[in-house]
Amino acid sequence: MVDIIFRRTSGFPDTNCLPSLGELLSELKAPFGRGDRVGIKLHWGEEGNHGFLAPDYAREIAQWVMDLGARPFVFDTTVLYSGGRRTAEGSLKTAAEHGYTEAFLGCPVVIADGPDGRDVIDIEAGFRHFDNVQVASVVDNAGGFVIFSHFKGHLASGFGGAVKNISMGFASRAQKQRMHADVHPTLIRDKCTRCGSCIDVCPVSAARFASDDYPVYDGEICIGCAQCIAVCPEVALEIQWGSDNLVFQEKLVETAAAVWRRIKDRAVIVNALINITEECDCLPGDHAVIAPDWGFIGGYHPVTVDAESLAAVGAEPIDNAHPDIPWRRQLEYARELNFTADC
Ligand code: SF4
Ligand code: SF4
Repeated sequence: MVDIIFRRTSGFPDTNCLPSLGELLSELKAPFGRGDRVGIKLHWGEEGNHGFLAPDYAREIAQWVMDLGARPFVFDTTVLYSGGRRTAEGSLKTAAEHGYTEAFLGCPVVIADGPDGRDVIDIEAGFRHFDNVQVASVVDNAGGFVIFSHFKGHLASGFGGAVKNISMGFASRAQKQRMHADVHPTLIRDKCTRCGSCIDVCPVSAARFASDDYPVYDGEICIGCAQCIAVCPEVALEIQWGSDNLVFQEKLVETAAAVWRRIKDRAVIVNALINITEECDCLPGDHAVIAPDWGFIGGYHPVTVDAESLAAVGAEPIDNAHPDIPWRRQLEYARELNFTADC
């Protein structure tokens, strides 16, 4: 079996890219078949985000799954930060606004951690940071998975691909919080215009104006969602890592590795290297494109597919976009955990 399948294409946001995805899928050997429920894990974009992948790609994958006689559903989980995906109801509304509807896709759209975020289970991890991780119960409730990831930059992990999609994407809200616990804002006062956007957006009221009218952030309350950093129009907030700034990368990888151990015999991986933006689809607005469209990379292990995606895009766009993020630690730590193509 060929481990990695490449399909070059360009033309985002046009659906010119669809035939390339179709060709790639036709070469993938699906580890699921007739009658299986197959979850397509993807990100339908935060409310107000303009860079998310068009639902046409998800529809192409859903059709491929149906052609195999299986029963697809598209899913994501709720998030920590305020906005359009914090609750199941809100996230489904955002999905529909972005075209991710059952009517268009031909399959259900599901919030995998349930309507109240409690449809979760603990699974064994046994790693340095996490003995176990808490994830959506879908991890055990589907006959197969297609991990479909928009490869792009990210303000805390440098880049986001299949590893991040599995990690944050399957994680319960509590697990997301455990991973983010080391990320907090710090103010560059010279840049701050005291507009208050960071205070308005904070989901847990950790940000407030101090007596001198500059914002302050209560580290005891802050859940590390980084949303204030993302919305600041003056780029006056930086990440202040609570401990070693490698820890976030490592926690991300540990959660993905634990999930992968559970689903590896039922899953295939597809990365879309199109509209490769500086920031992830979690953030509202337009974000700079940092690398040309490349195409699609598919395979059978998230670390392998992410490594090939990085090789295709090159390190320079990620380094330029996020010079202070030790993003290389993701793949390095994956190797240390033996979270590689052999397991
Ligand atoms: S959003 Fe940025 S500029 Fe506005 S108050 Fe917060 S730190 Fe200052
Ligand atoms: S202060 Fe903390 S919890 Fe509030 S928006 Fe910023 S990172 Fe998130």
